[in-house]
Amino acid sequence: AFRGTPTYSQLLIFVAVSSGGLVAYADAKSDDEIKSSQMSTRKRVVVLGTGWAGTSFLKNIDSRVYDVQVVSPRNYFAFTPLLPSVTCGTVDARSIVEPIRKIIKKKDGEITFWDGECLKIDSINKKVHCLPCIATKSDSSREFIVSYDYLVIAVGARVNTFNTPGVVENCHFLKEVEDAQNIRKDVMLCFERANLPDLDEEERRKDVHFVIVGGGPTGVEFAAELHDFITEDLAKLYPKVKDLVRISLIQSGEHILNMFDERIANFAEEKFQRDGIEVKTGFRVVKVSDKDITMKSKSMGEISVPYGMAVWSTGIATRPVILDFMKQIGQSNRRVLATNEWLRVCGCEDVYALGDCATIDQRKVMEDISAIFKVADKDNSGTLTVEEIQDVLEDIYARYPQVELYLKTKHMSDFLDLLKDAKGDAAKASVDINIEQFKEALADVDSQVKTLPATAQVAAQQGHYLAQCFNKIKVCAENPEGPLRMTQSGRHRFKPFRYKHFGQFAPLGGEQAAAELPGDWISIGHGSQWLWYSVYASKQVSWRTRVLVVSDWLKRAIFGRDSSCI
Ligand code: FAD
Repeated sequence: AFRGTPTYSQLLIFVAVSSGGLVAYADAKSDDEIKSSQMSTRKRVVVLGTGWAGTSFLKNIDSRVYDVQVVSPRNYFAFTPLLPSVTCGTVDARSIVEPIRKIIKKKDGEITFWDGECLKIDSINKKVHCLPCIATKSDSSREFIVSYDYLVIAVGARVNTFNTPGVVENCHFLKEVEDAQNIRKDVMLCFERANLPDLDEEERRKDVHFVIVGGGPTGVEFAAELHDFITEDLAKLYPKVKDLVRISLIQSGEHILNMFDERIANFAEEKFQRDGIEVKTGFRVVKVSDKDITMKSKSMGEISVPYGMAVWSTGIATRPVILDFMKQIGQSNRRVLATNEWLRVCGCEDVYALGDCATIDQRKVMEDISAIFKVADKDNSGTLTVEEIQDVLEDIYARYPQVELYLKTKHMSDFLDLLKDAKGDAAKASVDINIEQFKEALADVDSQVKTLPATAQVAAQQGHYLAQCFNKIKVCAENPEGPLRMTQSGRHRFKPFRYKHFGQFAPLGGEQAAAELPGDWISIGHGSQWLWYSVYASKQVSWRTRVLVVSDWLKRAIFGRDSSCI
């Protein structure tokens, strides 16, 4: 808006801009005129998604420089790490969400939000086709199109059912706020059903048999929350059924929490055993009907168990809109959309992807690792000394912290110990190590560390990183095709994305948690639960949600959880 009495040229600009035209006046001199001509030439950045990656990008992008538009079927940001707490009413659903309009309103420049779902990405014409949330999928006449100069895809992922029959129809997922609310209602319905008159014991047992498929952090946390809810609150209210309750956690691998340190996985398994949560490892669910879950194991073959409620939490898969886009750009042979280390989609101009919907191209990672070896092997002998191997590792760790995490926590710890010993021993340090053998060991790492973990931490850091790159507008203008990989001298113009791992938590119930912190630091017990409370309170997206979450925790401690079926 113009302040004071508008001049003739200001009026002209106002008319031109408001009629949608792009106007540039050579003699326009006032600040407002300059500002409006800048506005008209701002590049359009379209962001798909308002999750961890999208919101972090929006919070950090300089919206005075870009014309930013956001499309998402969710007009709020949800703090997903607290979703398991919502399933049992420890925290209220509304305490962990923040309207996206409130977040973007805090920005200096204007950001537009469109409440819709992207159905198709047309990267040739630089447009995205969207359906408003109020319209049904078949109502394509309501479709709207948004044009972009740069597209930021941050649509997250969907639940992976591995095409197991009956999962979609009969299991709950735990991905969205609505899922957590539905689980909460269903837990209570199971208890009310089991408490009805004229049921035999077998029927009651079936109603209060809760099955969780997937022993990752989400499944484990939900099992722990449910156990606490039942023992602390429901056991007093449903004395008739309290002794019939059963919680089963089914995991296809040998251990639950297998992305954590072994000590944490063992502690969790022992604690669950003490709590009476049945952990069934080595079982793969093959079918789910409305009454039974059928699973298979090598030792026991196929068994079916009746259940009252099932929650499916076995990892993530690519969304259909991304699969379609991957086909268009020649990535159909992949399972996840690949980007380079600058988060630009491989084989596509001006399109960036971050968070759970994308992965950094691992073929490039192996190329990089090979290049590091080549530089280290100065005499081309095919062997490196222990010292040189140490340098190589340090270089690899600097570029790929996830490799370090993987090596240190699990699979090559013996090999690394050997290196450590050798370093202090002059005789051993002179022993050469065959590069090919060492690369073979790393090839295993490569196949294991396929991607960065699909976590909020990664998504938020990527959103922040990409916004910072966009903010370096001048450099972008000099390189319109996007950040360059490497210059002739081998130096990066834009630093590639580097993930910083700040550790991870696994709440295990009974006011105990396990924490895996940087530097191989493990903490398990009540102290870690307090650390968990403080970290999760501090990570809230606004003061409003921070106050709400903390007051929910206090409410629960004083009054217990609410058991109404609403
Ligand atoms: P999301 O956060 O899923 O956001 C995707 C966004 O895209 C949403 O707004 C969605 O509505 C929108 N969208 C979807 N389809 C379309 C479309 N077609 N068009 C436009 N927009 C679309 N990570 C941790 O680091 N620590 C934890 O403790 C932790 N706990 C978790 C607990 C649970 C129960 C769950 C489900 C996840 C947890 N995670 C945790 C993982 C973390 O939530 C994800 O890794 C993170 O949400 C990924 O962020 P994202 O932005 O890629 O996707």
